[in-house]
Amino acid sequence: FMLLTKKLIEIRNILNSIDHNDTLKLPSIVVIGSQSSGKSSVLEAIVGHEFLPKGSNMVTRRPIELTLIHTPHTMEEYGEFPSLGLGKVHDFKRVQQTLKDLNMAVPESECVSSKPIELRIYSPNVPDLTLIDLPGYIQITSKNQPLTLKEKISELCEKYIQQPNIILAVCAADVDLANSEALRSSRKVDPLGLRTIGVITKMDLVEPERGVAILRNQDYPLHLGYIGVVCKPPGGNNKDNMTQAVIKTEDAYFRSAYQFSQRGIAVGTGTLRRKLMDVLEENMGSNLGSIIKAVQRELDETRYQFKVEYNDQKMSAESYVAESVDKLKHRFKDFSRAFGKPQVRLEIRHMLEQRMLDICAQRYWADPRIHELSQLDSLAEGDRLYWDLKLELASSALTKSGVGRQTTQRVVDILTRTMEQLAEAEPFNHHPDAAETIKTMTHEILSSRSQATADQVENTIKPFKYEVECSDGEWTEGVKRSIVLLQKELEMCEEALGKIKTTVGTKKLRKAINYVIEFDREEAKRTQRREEIAKLRESNPHSHLEGQRLFGDSDSESLGEDQHSEDHEGEKDKGSSSSEEKQEHSHSHSHLQELEDELEAVMRPHFNPKLLNKAREALSLRDRALVLKYRLSALKSKTCKSSKNKTQCPEAFLAMVSEKLAYTSVMFIQVELMNEFVFQLPRMIDSRLGVKTGQEAMEKFARENPLVGKHLQLMDRRMKLEEVWERLNYLVRRQEEAKARKW
Ligand code: GDP
Repeated sequence: FMLLTKKLIEIRNILNSIDHNDTLKLPSIVVIGSQSSGKSSVLEAIVGHEFLPKGSNMVTRRPIELTLIHTPHTMEEYGEFPSLGLGKVHDFKRVQQTLKDLNMAVPESECVSSKPIELRIYSPNVPDLTLIDLPGYIQITSKNQPLTLKEKISELCEKYIQQPNIILAVCAADVDLANSEALRSSRKVDPLGLRTIGVITKMDLVEPERGVAILRNQDYPLHLGYIGVVCKPPGGNNKDNMTQAVIKTEDAYFRSAYQFSQRGIAVGTGTLRRKLMDVLEENMGSNLGSIIKAVQRELDETRYQFKVEYNDQKMSAESYVAESVDKLKHRFKDFSRAFGKPQVRLEIRHMLEQRMLDICAQRYWADPRIHELSQLDSLAEGDRLYWDLKLELASSALTKSGVGRQTTQRVVDILTRTMEQLAEAEPFNHHPDAAETIKTMTHEILSSRSQATADQVENTIKPFKYEVECSDGEWTEGVKRSIVLLQKELEMCEEALGKIKTTVGTKKLRKAINYVIEFDREEAKRTQRREEIAKLRESNPHSHLEGQRLFGDSDSESLGEDQHSEDHEGEKDKGSSSSEEKQEHSHSHSHLQELEDELEAVMRPHFNPKLLNKAREALSLRDRALVLKYRLSALKSKTCKSSKNKTQCPEAFLAMVSEKLAYTSVMFIQVELMNEFVFQLPRMIDSRLGVKTGQEAMEKFARENPLVGKHLQLMDRRMKLEEVWERLNYLVRRQEEAKARKW
C-alpha cells in the first residue's frame, strides 16, 4: 500500500509551498553522517545515479531536500529544481553540476547555509521517498575553516533531525561506532532509537565476523535496526548504469560470506530501500491523525484571520490587475475629456502669443525710432519702407520659427507629463516596472506620431510664411487681442516696478536711479572722449602716453610731450603756454579723477551693486511701460481700425497671424496626435499591463503591492490548507476502508 507515501509526498509538497510554514511538516528521512562515511554513496545507490557533488573541500554546504517520485509507466528519468525553473534535467551530470554551483554559491565565510536546495527526481527506478541530505559532520577543523564551522554543521543537523523526521545515521564499518557523530547526535533527540535507522557502509572493509557484530546492534541498540551496505562503485568510475554495478558487487560480497545470511542480519541497498519505504509509510500513516489535527488548527486560524482582516473578501492577482488597469484607464479618460480641443487651443495660443510678444519687444518696443510709427504719413519714402519691411520680417519671424515642431512638442510635453503623473500615482507607485511601461508606451505612441504631426502643421501654415491675408473680422479680433495682451504686459511691467519700489524703498530707489542716470551720462561722455582720443591717436601714433594717462593707467606726473590737449580743454583758454598747457592738463585730469573719486567715495558706499542693478531694472521697466502705453493708445486709435494700416499696428497684425497659426496647428495636432493617442493608449495598456500578460506576470505585479501581497498570501494559504485537509481526510477514509476489509 505504497500509495499512502506517494499521496503524502504530494501533500508534503503543497505544505512546503505555503509561505512561512514552519509548523506543518510531514516526516522525511534525514541523512546524517561524518564526512567520508559514505553518505553520498548511499544516497546515490538509492537513486541509482551519480548526482551529488564530490570533492574534498566541503561540497555540501546547504541541505538538499530530495524528493524521489516513482513513475512506473515511463522510462524517462530526470531531475527538477522547482525553484530554479530549469525544467526537466535529463542529464544527471547537469544535476550534479547544478547542485555543486548552488552549494558553492554559499560564501566561504559562511561555509554552511540553512537554506535548503529543493531537488526532485522522477524515475521508474526510485521509490517514493523524501530524503534530506545534510553537510557531513567534520572531525578536525582544518586551517582555513572557521572554528565555529563544526558547531554550525551540528546545529543545522540538529534542526533537521527533530520530530517527526526519520534519521538515517550513516556510519562506516571501519570506524568504531563509539566515535560516530551521527549516532551521538541522533541519540540526543531520539534516545530510544525509535525513529533512527543505522546504515553501516563500507562493510567490505572489515571482516564479515566483525561486520555482522556491528549489525547485531548490541552496543548501540536501535529500534529500527542497522543495515549493512557496500556502495563503492567497482573499478573506479563506471558511471553508466551504476546501480547494477553497485548491486552486483554488493550482492557478490554479501553472498561470499555465510555470516550475512544469518537471521536478523539486514544487508544490501535493496533491503535499505524497502526499509526506508516501510518506515516512512508507517511513520506517515501513524502521524496522519496528528497531522490532520494540526492542519485543521492551522486552517481554522487562517479562516478566522481571513474573516477578521479581509471580511472574507476574495482577492486574486487577476482581479487586482484588472482593477489597477481600469483605474489607470479611467483616469486617462478623465484627463482626455478635460484636455480636449479647447484646452489644446488655449495652450498653443498662449505659446504663440508669448512668441509674438517677444518679437514685438525685440523688434519694435526696443527700437529707438518707435515713435515714427504714429507719423508714418509724414515720413520720407525710405523711412516708410523701413517700417513696411520690419513688419514683413516680424511676421516671418513668427511663421518661420518652427511652429509645427514647437506646437506639437508642447502637446507632447503635456501628455508625457500627465502620463508620468498617472504612472507615479496609486496603485502604480507600488509597481515600478509597470510605471516604466506606462511611460514607455506613452513615449512610443507620441514619438511615432509627433514627426508626422509637426510636418503636417508646418505644411498647412506654409502659405502664411509668404503672405497673411485677413478679413475685417479677423483684423478687428487681432486688434482686440493685441490690446488685451499689451494691457497684460503693461500690468506686469507696473507690477514688477511696484515690487522693486516696495523692496528697495521709493526714496532709496529714486536716489539710486538718479545716480545711475548721472553715471551713465558721465560714462557716455567718457566713451565719447575715448573715441576722440582713439581717432587722434590714429592720426598721431606717438601719443600713446596721453591715452594711458587719460585712462588713469600711469602716474599723472610722467606726462609726455603731448600736443593734443585740446580735447581735454574744450572750455579752457586756448592761448596758454606749453607749460600752462601741461598744468591745465594735469588740472583737467585731476578734475576728472576727482569726479571719479567723488563718485567712488561718496556714491559707492551708499549704492551696492545689487541696488544699482535694481535701479537699472526699474529704469528699463519704466521705459517699457512708457512704450507700452504709447502703443496701446496707438492700437486704440482710429488708424488701427483698418487692416490697411497694418504697418502702423504691428501688434494687431502679429496677434492676428498668431491666432491663425494657432487655429491651424490645433486642428492637425488634434487629429494626428491627440485622437491617435486617446485611441491607442488604452489598447496598449490592456495588452501590456492587463490580464493578457499571463498568470505569472499578474502574480508578480500583485505581490509588488504589500497590502495585496499579504491578502493574496493569506488566500493562498487558506486554499492550500483546504486542499491538504481534504486530501488527508480522503487518505484516512481509504485507510479505514482497508482496515475494515482486512477484518
Ligand atoms: P561522504 O563524504 O559521507 O558523502 O562519503 P562518500 O560517499 O563520498 O564516500 C567517501 C569515500 O568512501 C569515497 O571514496 C567512496 O568511494 C568510499 N566508499 C563509500 N562507500 C564505500 C563502501 O561501501 N566500500 C568502500 N570500500 N568504499 C566506500
